[in-house]
Amino acid sequence: MTDALIIPAEAVRSWEYEADVAVVGAGGCGMVAALSAAELGAQVLLIDRDRKGACNTARSGGMIPAGGTRFQRAAGIAESPEDFALEILAKNGGQSPRDLAFALCRRAPELVHWLVDRPRVRLELVTDFKYPGHTEYRMHAPLERTGAALFAMLRDAVHREANIQVALGANGQGLVADRGAVGGVSVESGAAVEFVRARKVILALNGFGGNPPLVAQHIPEMAGVLYFGGEESTGEGIRWGQALGAATAFMDAYQAHASVAQPGGTLVSYAVIMQGGIQVNRLGRRFADETLGYSEHAVALARQPDRIAVEVFDQPIYDQALQFPDFRACVEQGVVKRATTVARLAGLFGLPAAELARTVESYNAANRTLAPDEVGRRPSGRPLSPPLYAVQVTAALIHTQGGLVVNQHAQVVTPDGSPIPNLYAGGGVAAGISGHGPAGYLSGNGLLTALGYGRIAGEHCARALARERS
Ligand SMILES: Cc1cc2nc3c(=O)[nH]c(=O)nc-3n(C[C@H](O)[C@H](O)[C@H](O)COP(=O)(O)OP(=O)(O)OC[C@H]3O[C@@H](n4cnc5c(N)ncnc54)[C@H](O)[C@@H]3O)c2cc1C
Repeated sequence: MTDALIIPAEAVRSWEYEADVAVVGAGGCGMVAALSAAELGAQVLLIDRDRKGACNTARSGGMIPAGGTRFQRAAGIAESPEDFALEILAKNGGQSPRDLAFALCRRAPELVHWLVDRPRVRLELVTDFKYPGHTEYRMHAPLERTGAALFAMLRDAVHREANIQVALGANGQGLVADRGAVGGVSVESGAAVEFVRARKVILALNGFGGNPPLVAQHIPEMAGVLYFGGEESTGEGIRWGQALGAATAFMDAYQAHASVAQPGGTLVSYAVIMQGGIQVNRLGRRFADETLGYSEHAVALARQPDRIAVEVFDQPIYDQALQFPDFRACVEQGVVKRATTVARLAGLFGLPAAELARTVESYNAANRTLAPDEVGRRPSGRPLSPPLYAVQVTAALIHTQGGLVVNQHAQVVTPDGSPIPNLYAGGGVAAGISGHGPAGYLSGNGLLTALGYGRIAGEHCARALARERS
């Protein structure tokens, strides 16, 4: 056993496995990277310590953003990748590198088409609601509207691909390197540490949301807040890169969510809010404009008494939200409650009835007169009308968005911008495109950087290998 993050190649006595490309982490980034490298002829070893497939990708909503797809064109939506990139930059106030946002957005339509045509991931354009900050319908999601379906389709494609070998239950321990050039990976499998010789290594281990000390260090406002991502996201990939001299950026960036049902622990789709639902605190009062983004709204919610809010909506919103499996789960768990009057709804959740009535009437008045409401939210023009529904929710940390700095080819770079030879990263290991803090996260930035960098890294590795061989 060894605790070393970087092992010199000369210290490796025997190589148990050999591959052109070792991909550490078999979530969305890792599987897309493996498939992309394999279809260009590379022999890939895909490693994951988890056997259950409980990664962030499988827990996600499976919403993949792209501007300029054939699915948008078929729906009459004329949007370019650059339009999409500008919305990412607008959301993060121009904090993230412009070239990376543009590179990922320009790749996104091809990514979506490739996912559908090659690994046979069934996706459709979501055209019934827009996420905060999206001016166009651009989310492409599995028909089931779940990351579990996305994960399962990618996993099936990985199993069909002859050039990919999968090693589950293999805990990545560190990198093997020779004078700064990566040449393999060490993995703990059972009691033994084994070595994988690889000409390229792709880090796809996600970020550090599941590592409370690192969260407290980099994102103190989320310390102690419910964590809703995959348990295995403990930040090792970032530490390995740092140990080799990689630059890091945006370590304080993250996605939070303002709508996890309590009790029940199920994510309530933010479509409920975007279609006109509101949140009140235990005092029956609104506390922030919910539509600015679920990530920053979560921070406002985490400051409310008991970190609790009650999400109030009506029948049309309820009916539409039923398309989301998570929302249906909340209904089945009995945590979504219905009442014919505001007073009865207040009674169901222990809220002050008079204050809740004032709050709902204030929201409705703003929507009747098309004026911004008391928290500055733009009117939808549709007041809430009985019967009313509500669910009690809390805030959660979903995933981190800071990590190793990569270039447009997903190569990990040092502070002076030089690529570390043979090392790539994507998804939560890599510094994201959401700027600092929670507010720069535009919905979809998670899977865009996971699947997008995965596709870019896999292809770049395979092409570099072909060049090196010729
Ligand atoms: C509830 C929820 C909803 C979301 N919805 C969306 C959405 O709709 N759209 C969107 O864009 N984003 C969404 N996200 C964010 C998105 O899921 C993530 O950004 C993305 O899945 C990250 O992908 P990844 O491949 O980097 O990580 P993961 O999918 O988590 O994969 C990482 C893998 O690495 C493995 N691993 C970790 N450490 C080691 C190690 N030392 N050795 C071996 N293996 C290791 C893990 O077991 C895991 O399988 C959501 C996230 C959550 C939690």
